[in-house]
Amino acid sequence: MKWMDPAPIKCSECGGTFPVTVAALKSLRAVCAGCAASLAAVGEGMFAEEARIGRQIDLFHVALELDERNGWNVLDTHDESEWTLEGLARSVVGFLPPTAGGIAAATELVAETARRVAPRLLSEVGLEASIADLKLRYAAWLAIPAKAKPRPTRSRPSDR
Ligand SMILES: [Zn+2]
Repeated sequence: MKWMDPAPIKCSECGGTFPVTVAALKSLRAVCAGCAASLAAVGEGMFAEEARIGRQIDLFHVALELDERNGWNVLDTHDESEWTLEGLARSVVGFLPPTAGGIAAATELVAETARRVAPRLLSEVGLEASIADLKLRYAAWLAIPAKAKPRPTRSRPSDR
């Protein structure tokens, strides 16, 4: 992705604007030339934006592949607010014959296509599922009263 380099960065601490190179921002070690506040958040934002755009491009690849292979028109008819694998599957259902198996078949087809043309998408789906699972387990862990949770039986060296 092409960023302006160096980019004029406005410091959230002192309000000053200074040119900072992309390399420095992405190192997450850049500091404001005026007040030396960390500009790591700016670099993190750049990484997040690149990931978001990369994901959009990957999803576009999947839709284009489905259209080319099957003579469909998912790209033109797809709801733009649904640029996810699940959203693509909902669009694909409309092109499948009624006997094809509905959303389950569409999901499998979209996943199979993504595995071929954009495998990165599936690892992200895996991550989302993993995070959702972690949230559930952590919520269950929090629900256990503190008294019921075993404490360490021996004190650590730093406690002495
Ligand atoms: Zn500053």
